[in-house]
Amino acid sequence: MRSSESRSRNMQAVRGKNTKPELVVRKAAHSLGLRFRLHRSDLLGRPDLTFPKWQTVLFVNGCFWHQHANCARSKLPKGNKEFWSTKLTRNVERDRRNYRLLEEQGWRVVVIWECDLHRSGAIGLLEKHFIRSSI
Ligand SMILES: [Zn+2]
Repeated sequence: MRSSESRSRNMQAVRGKNTKPELVVRKAAHSLGLRFRLHRSDLLGRPDLTFPKWQTVLFVNGCFWHQHANCARSKLPKGNKEFWSTKLTRNVERDRRNYRLLEEQGWRVVVIWECDLHRSGAIGLLEKHFIRSSI
């Protein structure tokens, strides 16, 4: 049986802040020696991680909530399709707008998708976006 403490931890995860995929990415960034800041509220969309040295903001996106294109995890639930499609379309439009404006402000925007995280691991993805891209 679950303790109420672990249940409230789950609720926190559901709300989207400090969710597990994000923690995994953070830990990996640490181990690669990348310096970052968290949830800068002065930036649009409060990027999960910001890497000042790399002029890069990074979002760790859940495939469903951010509607990862052509991804099995982004499939809409059978019931209430219209509700979900309106809600999630709004999320996607907001993401697009945020990314575009951040880029206009000179940031490089990196999105790490939940499913890629499962497939490739955080270290591999970060190396691709940071270490290898600088060579
Ligand atoms: Zn996905």
